[in-house]
Amino acid sequence: EISTPVVTRIAPSPTGFMHVGTARTALFNWLYARGRGGKFLLRVEDTDRARSTPEATEAIVKGLRWLGLDWDGDAVSQSDRADRHAEVARAMLDTGAAYKCFATQEEIEAYREAARAEGRSTLYRSPWRDADPADHPDAPYVIRVKAPLDGETVIDDQVQGRVTVRNDQLDDMIVLRSDGTPTYMLAVVVDDHDMGVTHVIRGDDHLNNTARQGLVYDAMGWDRPVYAHIPLIHGEDGKKLSKRHGALGVEEYVAMGYPAEAMRNYLARLGWAHGDDEVFTTEQALDWFDLSGIGKSPARLDFKKLDHVSGQH
Ligand code: GLU
Repeated sequence: EISTPVVTRIAPSPTGFMHVGTARTALFNWLYARGRGGKFLLRVEDTDRARSTPEATEAIVKGLRWLGLDWDGDAVSQSDRADRHAEVARAMLDTGAAYKCFATQEEIEAYREAARAEGRSTLYRSPWRDADPADHPDAPYVIRVKAPLDGETVIDDQVQGRVTVRNDQLDDMIVLRSDGTPTYMLAVVVDDHDMGVTHVIRGDDHLNNTARQGLVYDAMGWDRPVYAHIPLIHGEDGKKLSKRHGALGVEEYVAMGYPAEAMRNYLARLGWAHGDDEVFTTEQALDWFDLSGIGKSPARLDFKKLDHVSGQH
């Protein structure tokens, strides 16, 4: 266990309405930090400039406020930190943990096609990986991290248990694009490190990213945070959540008149349990919440439960 103060965060991408899954992830992070006298941060991950909108950021801020999930300090926009991200990419170049790749889209496609035809792995292996800088052309390039070719990456996840990924399954991922902008895979690591995040609690759809992001931690000699990858939420039919299941934006629950405390109770129960307790106050949730209470199987939406808890609050 970490003895420094706990720092968690919610790092939503502002590309749509505020999904109930985002609200639940925010609540788990808030409960974990606040229940331990720690900090809860908000970082808006707008590295995908084309898909990010100010309206979506606004919906996230309003949704968190309505849910009563207060964050420490100002919300951070990931795009404001692009210079810092580029600086880290260059630092990795300097130590040889990353390299300039001049391959064109056509060359990468041709590599993949040949690999497919020969039944080899289509994970791209750039010929620039071991090139002498003296042979570099004067042409656009991306910066790729150098993934180790042997060994394995181990994630001791607080929910999933020990997850092991063979390093030869990891690609030399791009950290800086040819226009000098960072990729999400780089930005998320730099930001979590710089913001002092100790615990990353996020959806288990990120588990594979976590293995890849480990390359940046290792390249920079940074300690990784503690990870807890939580199962996604499913609809009442057990299938992956979609709008059809009533995967509503938080504002729609507000409009339906559910009290915020009932909503926190209901969201907490989506994937987390404390004995048989169904109805509890936020104070109790703050006392009780722990990563060990998070289940390994997907939580299911159940509007009857929401109606039940709201009747009790
Ligand atoms: N921006 C990511 C998302 O919206 C979250 C990344 C993270 O929590 O590390 O899925």
